Amino acid sequence: MIFKSINPFSQEIIAEHEVLTNGELNQKLQLSERAFKKWRNTTFQERADKMKKLAYVLRANKEKLGLLITNEMGKIVSESISEVEKSAANCDFYAEHAEQMLKDEYYDTSFKSLSVYDPLGAVFAIMPWNYPFWQVLRYAAPAIMAGNVTLLKHAPNVIGCAKAIENAFLESGFPEGVFLQITIDIPQVESVIASNIVHGVTLTGSEKAGSSVASLAGKHIKKSVMELGGSDAFIVLNDANLERAASIATQSRMLNAGQACICAKRFIVTEKVADEFSALFAQKTQLLQQGNPLQQGIDMGPLARLDLAKQLSSQLHKALEQGAKLIVGGERENCNFQPTLIDFVTVDSIAFQEETFGPLATIIRAKDENDAIAIANNHHYGLASALWTEDREKAYTLARRIEAGNVFVNSLVRSDSRVPFGGIKKSGYGRELGAVGIKEFMNMKSLVIE
Ligand code: NAP
Repeated sequence: MIFKSINPFSQEIIAEHEVLTNGELNQKLQLSERAFKKWRNTTFQERADKMKKLAYVLRANKEKLGLLITNEMGKIVSESISEVEKSAANCDFYAEHAEQMLKDEYYDTSFKSLSVYDPLGAVFAIMPWNYPFWQVLRYAAPAIMAGNVTLLKHAPNVIGCAKAIENAFLESGFPEGVFLQITIDIPQVESVIASNIVHGVTLTGSEKAGSSVASLAGKHIKKSVMELGGSDAFIVLNDANLERAASIATQSRMLNAGQACICAKRFIVTEKVADEFSALFAQKTQLLQQGNPLQQGIDMGPLARLDLAKQLSSQLHKALEQGAKLIVGGERENCNFQPTLIDFVTVDSIAFQEETFGPLATIIRAKDENDAIAIANNHHYGLASALWTEDREKAYTLARRIEAGNVFVNSLVRSDSRVPFGGIKKSGYGRELGAVGIKEFMNMKSLVIE
């Protein structure tokens, strides 16, 4: 079996990748086990030296790697290069902080009692194509600094990126098997989760994939982290700075052609300012240049796959039938989906109920701030939210009432190596990043010495 990598802008086949046979997969698992036996005994300093080298290798090759990302999944090349840079910075961050994050913790008892953090073993990761480097380094850098090893099943359309990441690890001096990419198909996933070699499972992807993989992790009693979909609320209140809110709204919805879990998807605006906000948002959306993601001056490339672009069109048309008003855009040609804004969306609309994974912004009008919070919380997802108000004290109170794993006030929602990231409800469980994220796949061992 072969995975084809298709450039979403040109529709050309750019590479073909053979799927591993079950025998080959088993050899990779054995290699991973052998690598863990040695890697777990390395010092933080040894790991940090290699992780720093990895950051260097990524930066030194950022143009080449950025081009690969763009060719495989279509984001504009400047965003691809920034993604490689952000991934490199994440490697530096964990190289510098992992030891401190995992230091022994002592308890106040009459005898010596403490927690120590031991690595678990191989972590199996299933990752999506939308940030093919960042999503991988986000989980892999802390896991490997902690003494774990990892096997990556990447999305079939970004296997070139998966192989490039594995090569970068090897070039940086990591022993073979510490980071392994495995080109496998869905039916092979259970055998990896079931393997005695694998001790943790992390998935970033859709709710559907999360439900399936979390069930398998439960069946085989493996610790898991699920980073799933979202339909993030972007709440604009009467006293918000509307000009700035509309600029960040456009950025937050249209970045990466709208294909991020933490793109704002539901713009919930109080009635008094909704007309003005809608007009500003429309103006800024109209200015976006869509086209060849390799060209200078282009703000947005194509969606990553034709089926995804078709699905977004179908969601848009259903939303319009359900009463939403088209303000900007709405057209699609192959994978190119125009930056689109719809207004007067209601809570029973498909554009409210389902995640829209592309450049489609929806405005929902709320009576007042309490109504806005209620609308935001009236959803099965709970990944992130943004709140726009000039009253910072009120922002603190309202932010505490929002049901989401992350709330940003007057700012673009983004992930940061220093700050824990993750969702609640159907957006998943567990956390990545920060000192909490690195501990997800550790044995927190209580040690009591009388
Ligand atoms: P997807 O279809 O769920 O794919 C993600 C990964 O899961 C791919 O490697 C995919 O492989 C695999 N997968 C799918 N079904 C599976 C199954 N039944 N068993 C095992 N693996 C399975 O998601 P996507 O369309 O690529 O990515 C978009 C979704 O990811 C959105 O919902 C987005 O919000 C979410 N996301 C979440 C975060 C976060 O941090 N919370 C970040 C980025 C994206 P195949 O392609 O081979 O099926």
